[in-house]
Amino acid sequence: MAQAPKRPHFPAHINSSRAPLVPVTARKAAARASGVPTKWQGAGGRHDLAKPDIDQDPIPARARMVELLAVQGIKDAQVLRAFGAVDRRQFVDTALASQAYEDTALPIGLGQTISKPGVIARMVELLIRGLPRDATGRVGRVLDIGTGCGYQALVLAQVASEVYSIERLRALHERARINLRPLRVANVRLIFGDGMKGYPDGAPYAAIIAAAGGEQVPEAWIDQLAYGGRIVAPVSSGTEQVLMVVDKSRAGIARRALETVNFVPLKSGKA
Ligand code: SAH
Repeated sequence: MAQAPKRPHFPAHINSSRAPLVPVTARKAAARASGVPTKWQGAGGRHDLAKPDIDQDPIPARARMVELLAVQGIKDAQVLRAFGAVDRRQFVDTALASQAYEDTALPIGLGQTISKPGVIARMVELLIRGLPRDATGRVGRVLDIGTGCGYQALVLAQVASEVYSIERLRALHERARINLRPLRVANVRLIFGDGMKGYPDGAPYAAIIAAAGGEQVPEAWIDQLAYGGRIVAPVSSGTEQVLMVVDKSRAGIARRALETVNFVPLKSGKA
């Protein structure tokens, strides 16, 4: 099989038909916000050491993904930094590692997928916009419904003080455990259970986010949400699924339906 041409390293000019037309300012802003080094530095910190192939070296590919998120309209520097901080390759099969930084959903087994970075970024940005922050700029405790491989939980851990992440499939819950263990993340708690019921032991939550969509936002989630908190979740609407944003205040519950999305179904019970 012919070898694929080597892709240039970020932030080199990418002169191919696949390359997005990225305004320089958005590119620079993303690079600054991401905190990801944009040049490969060998062990001695010299730029002229043998450069690894992009598939071996996640950093330029990750920086390029962050740059694309900025181009797609993600503005929150904290969200961009979160994506720059997490290695998505650690959450997919080795065979798919070279695609880890493409903006696509990828299979994680049992018919489930790791969500598209662009969609996670959009949801996380919506989730934390305007919520109260602590001294480190993080929002409070977040409930993450549908741990899957744990990628989104780790992204959330960068922007929230604590993340409770619940998964109904034991095999995926275990897999997320294995994925996260070596990273020693202190503020993520993985739970095996039916997230349709929320997770009352951690309530109230500053925010709740779901990676699986049901017919409606379960009442349990609204009950377990703090006043001033927000839920972002896919919800079926006829033959489509839309992104639903629910804000809870003492005055009542406000719901907004946004763009169409395509998530796996929210199912009840454990398996
Ligand atoms: N956030 C994940 C995406 C996983 S896909 C990631 O970063 O990889 C959505 C997940 O939701 C699937 O693993 C599915 O098993 C899970 N899920 C569906 N219904 C659920 C429920 N009631 N409780 C908990 N998890 C659920």
